[in-house]
Amino acid sequence: MKMLKLLVTAGALAAGTAAFAQEKFITIGTGGQTGVYFVVGQSICRLVNRGTAEHGLKCTAPSTGGSIANINAIKAGDMDMGVAQSDWQYHAYNGTSEFEGNKFDDIRAVFSVHGEPFNVIARSDSGIESFDDLKGKRVNIGNPGSGQRATMEVVMNAKGWGLDDFALASELKPAEQAAALGDNKVDAIIYTVGHPNGSIQEAVSTIDAHIVPVDGEAIDKLVEDNPFYAKATVPGGMYKGTDEDVTTFGVKATFVTSASVPDDVVYQVVKAVFDNFDRFKRLHPAFENLTAEEMIADGLSAPLHPGAEKYYREAGLLE
Ligand code: GLU
Repeated sequence: MKMLKLLVTAGALAAGTAAFAQEKFITIGTGGQTGVYFVVGQSICRLVNRGTAEHGLKCTAPSTGGSIANINAIKAGDMDMGVAQSDWQYHAYNGTSEFEGNKFDDIRAVFSVHGEPFNVIARSDSGIESFDDLKGKRVNIGNPGSGQRATMEVVMNAKGWGLDDFALASELKPAEQAAALGDNKVDAIIYTVGHPNGSIQEAVSTIDAHIVPVDGEAIDKLVEDNPFYAKATVPGGMYKGTDEDVTTFGVKATFVTSASVPDDVVYQVVKAVFDNFDRFKRLHPAFENLTAEEMIADGLSAPLHPGAEKYYREAGLLE
């Protein structure tokens, strides 16, 4: 009796090991749960996991600190892929700005996704109507590791501002910032994110708040000098309190990986997205106007990963 039980256990263990050997787990870095990166990662995984029986890949996309955290996790080998702003893809590959001394030559582009305006959202009772009005106010400049925090620092540098130009510079994560604005703990929040998104919707739902234009000479110069920035518009009527279009600048969300991730893994992930492209586009309104042609051309400064390139050639998207 005892012998039999032991045999069964050993058999079950052997079967478990065999199944494990065929399955490969991949992790995609996203952002806060009320942002769009989280939906990008979840959507990609959903499509990948429909094909696990064929390719053996099992995909998860946990919430993370955002662009910089994702790039660093991929570099360290803790994550396989992730979403990152096009400005931080550029800087990681070139070892510039935030990535000076921490260059990531092996970062590889997979595709770009939606546009991400640099958004400033202010309580209407704060009197903030322009970016310069943020001086002396309580501002959530974002958590370290997020794309918005790093891009905010670039903007502050361009303007010659330091942290002491604010009455308070808080470092709340996207998931916490709407409540902080609503509770009058801060006057404004900064968020580089696609539209529409849950965080801004939440922020404007309980109080009077509006999106503030980010323009002027310093911004024009940033856009002129850097290929990864472009002028951007937040459409009026999308959020309560902001009826007119608002001018700012922005970047693209991009999907990145490392040269050390095997070609067949990246190939299968890309195939899962583009073979089911209409389904993918329906998973978030920010994906609605995506085209495959733009996604493999815009916002990418690192070389394409060979696994992605292989799929694009087969699909006739690349010569
Ligand atoms: N752009 C933000 C970042 O890089 C994330 C936006 C989102 O989660 O959609 O951290």
